Amino acid sequence: MKRWGWESFLSLFLSTNCPLCDRKADICLCSSCRRQLQRCQLPASQAVWEDEIKGFAWGAYQGVLKRAIAVLKYDNQPQLAEPLGQWMGVAWLKTSPFPPPHHYVVVPIPLHTQRQQQRGFNQAELLALSFCRFTGLRLQSQGLKRDRETQAMYSLNPEERAENLKNAFCLGTPFQKRLPRSPVLLLDDIYTTGATIRSARQILTQAGIPVAGVVTLAKTSFNHESATNSYH
Ligand SMILES: [Zn+2]
Repeated sequence: MKRWGWESFLSLFLSTNCPLCDRKADICLCSSCRRQLQRCQLPASQAVWEDEIKGFAWGAYQGVLKRAIAVLKYDNQPQLAEPLGQWMGVAWLKTSPFPPPHHYVVVPIPLHTQRQQQRGFNQAELLALSFCRFTGLRLQSQGLKRDRETQAMYSLNPEERAENLKNAFCLGTPFQKRLPRSPVLLLDDIYTTGATIRSARQILTQAGIPVAGVVTLAKTSFNHESATNSYH
């Protein structure tokens, strides 16, 4: 499987057309799409939440941001993760709900190997790469592994989602060899019901690794209702 480093990530920028509208782009996005996307950013008061787990989201999962995430994942436009991950980093540094010192280890939610091979990348890992580069937090892309393929989640109710995700994750090799010294910050592209995050957190806490919370690019404005994206 391809492992993403910063160099391979940067090489994606050779394309000069905006992946959202196909117009000429300066850096990854054209200025019009960039402006529209930035309007999706949540105000600080809505960016932070706490139910079972403390969370921080950059934007609302709707409109052009929802489209950008779909384009990133399904239209093979991984370069979109760079500005989006950076904006997450900027917002997180300004209004992080997580207390200092910021010695967190960022662990992206993994895809199943087969799905990652099909897609060629894990969008959460690319967002985390950009987020960590900007915030200076340490990245551990292999902290978790997806143990088995889960069913697409959009057709499932909350109970079925939880069942579907049971034992979906296991500890990645680096954490099996040595537990991290710092608490983990989970990172994903979308937060809907939180089922994925709860399942991932359970595996880490069972191993004695504290989980500080979750950072996501986008969050739906509702919970436990019809989620609009698979796998979350
Ligand atoms: Zn554009």
